[in-house]
Amino acid sequence: MPENKKTLDVPKPREIKAYLDRYVIGQDRAKKILSVAVYNHYKRIMNNVLSEDAAGGVELEKSNILLVGPTGTGKTLLAKTIAKMLYVPFTIVDATVLTQAGYVGEDVESILSRLLQETDYDARQAELGIVFIDEIDKITRKGDNPSITRDVSGEGVQQALLKLLEGSVINVPPYGGRKHPEQQFIQVNTQNILFICGGSFEGIERNIAQRLNTQVIGFDTPAGKREIDKENLLQYVESQDLKKYGLIPEIVGRLPVVTYLDNLDRKALRRILVEPKNAIIRQYEKLFELDGIKLEVEPAVLDLIVDTAIDKKLGARGLRSICEQIFTDAMFDAPSQKRKSFRVTAEYAKKRLV
Ligand code: ADP
Repeated sequence: MPENKKTLDVPKPREIKAYLDRYVIGQDRAKKILSVAVYNHYKRIMNNVLSEDAAGGVELEKSNILLVGPTGTGKTLLAKTIAKMLYVPFTIVDATVLTQAGYVGEDVESILSRLLQETDYDARQAELGIVFIDEIDKITRKGDNPSITRDVSGEGVQQALLKLLEGSVINVPPYGGRKHPEQQFIQVNTQNILFICGGSFEGIERNIAQRLNTQVIGFDTPAGKREIDKENLLQYVESQDLKKYGLIPEIVGRLPVVTYLDNLDRKALRRILVEPKNAIIRQYEKLFELDGIKLEVEPAVLDLIVDTAIDKKLGARGLRSICEQIFTDAMFDAPSQKRKSFRVTAEYAKKRLV
């Protein structure tokens, strides 16, 4: 057994959450659930390593994670931040580029090739890594009834992914692709790799509502019906909704930890601009500071940026490009002007937003 497995220093769930709080705004529920799942994951690895020696030890099963939430709400950021905190190899893949073997596109093994690249082809290290699979909702099979509508491509990819998620030894072509048949395979055991999947699952609220309606009738307690927040149905998401949406039951079974992310409101977007450790506005301040210039951004400018992101329905993803539009002229001129400060007013900003 590699030594590093025994000495893996896992922060406690509260510490993980506190770390996430420094980088990710809001999403408290998801952070809490992720913190516990990640903690258990690495604790499990250590337990299993030790229990291999002690016969009769309880083998803990792995719990991969599914994050459901609109795009640009922090799913990737959460996964990335956790990997950064734990110093474990991390890679992001987009499920939509994956295909089942034999078709044009990337084999699922390419996910592991990328993880291996992150570790300079050290398979033992890669085996402790985290993989974020984005857009998992885009490989669902269409229609709930598998016997009527067999969507080969989506289901085929899910089947292929299953092998990775459940934990098995995979022969990985080190440089991806099938273009180099002569290359040696590297064996990677995925048993201890943590898979975090993300997807927006647009329209899944309908499945949730349907299920809740039937449930509420069925479970009418003397205390009355459970109050359901109809505006935010995503918080009630459960495995069965995902199956109905088109994930195959085996995949759902391998993603036992399911949580949701909230839509980011005006207040959250404004906080994202200034609060996180590497907040966008802080980054611009730093850029100007490197030229000896103190950048001052009026609070009204922050409101303007947020309003623009909301108007254009860009969410958090749009904040940076809006900032670029506002700050580009200043970044172009200020360094040659030998100024000590630069104040961005609402009027200045408005002129630069088309
Ligand atoms: P998703 O994976 O949910 O589509 P991302 O995590 O890629 O979204 O978010 C895109 C960008 O928006 C991030 O890089 C980050 O700058 C910003 N962002 C999104 N959500 C948050 C959040 N909750 N807190 C801080 N920044 C966020």
